[in-house]
Amino acid sequence: MVVSSPPSHLMELPRKILIGDRVIAEAGPLVKSLDMAAKSVAIITGSIVKERAGLSCNSSLEGAMLKTRWHVVRDASMDTVNNLYEKIKDDKPDFVIGFGGGRSVDVAKMTAYRLSKPFLSVPTSASHDGISSPFVSVRGIDKPHSIKANTPIGVLADTHLLSQAPPRLLAGGCGDLVAKITAVKDWELARDERGEYFGTYAANLAYMSAKIILEESEKLKNDERLGVRTVVEALISAGVASCIAGSSRPCSGAEHLFSHAVEYVAGAECGLHGERVGIGTIMMAKLHGLDWENVRHTLENMGAPTTAKQIGLGEDSIVQALVKAQSLRPDRYTILSKIKMDKKKARDLASITKVI
Ligand SMILES: [Zn+2]
Repeated sequence: MVVSSPPSHLMELPRKILIGDRVIAEAGPLVKSLDMAAKSVAIITGSIVKERAGLSCNSSLEGAMLKTRWHVVRDASMDTVNNLYEKIKDDKPDFVIGFGGGRSVDVAKMTAYRLSKPFLSVPTSASHDGISSPFVSVRGIDKPHSIKANTPIGVLADTHLLSQAPPRLLAGGCGDLVAKITAVKDWELARDERGEYFGTYAANLAYMSAKIILEESEKLKNDERLGVRTVVEALISAGVASCIAGSSRPCSGAEHLFSHAVEYVAGAECGLHGERVGIGTIMMAKLHGLDWENVRHTLENMGAPTTAKQIGLGEDSIVQALVKAQSLRPDRYTILSKIKMDKKKARDLASITKVI
């Protein structure tokens, strides 16, 4: 039998990842170590983060002889990216920093991609794995799921800043982490039933990020510092898994399709990304025959929602989202391609898993 070799793909990884207490003071030296020739930096941030930590970040950058220009963004839409691109392109910055929550990092990543400039990710909340991956969620594009930009050349995670973020964001990060158990199962399914390329190393790396939360949530819930550090490291490592896979496959399966469908059905205001994904993981774990009760228990331990009501979703919206999910990305084979949802099956699934 002739075995064909898997298709080639490019692995683009972050070069330096700095994690620690108050490492924001190292931002300048880190940029210089990543790009010796850099002279000017565009920092894309949110207003609260700028007020809270802008000064220490700025003095570190200026201390490294970098000219800084700050840009405050309010949302992660394609309009914001376009406006920012128009504003920044004449400045010709050598380097772009995304400093803040998911929105700032996403807009900065997309802007850096359009400017073809290196990008440093400086997350101030551990809420999803986009902090180290090339994937971006922006509104106003024709795709309901994330799109690919460039991988951050570096990541700076200041655990002091991260621990000051609202606890809800960290809990959301746990939702995005437990998701990797169903995402990896979906990938295995696509390999077995569709002959899709499967990267064992990337799959194991993503799976480990979920496993640490599923196994350690009792310990993590009682130790805030350890919790923040563990979750941010696991999110970075999950993002790196998708860099290695060359696609979001190891990190995003049917539970992410469900989350996108909730946005489609009820609007993006219904819960955070990680909260929706966590609830989706409970249900997809049940379909995969995994221990969905442990997923639920872990999310509860970490303070993440496990029911539709907790994210302001009605029963009918959950049912609609489950029925809709797979059609948003038909090319991504998942458990929902195999077990096709109708209204009855969807309602039964949500009710057995206590989501409704
Ligand atoms: Zn995600």
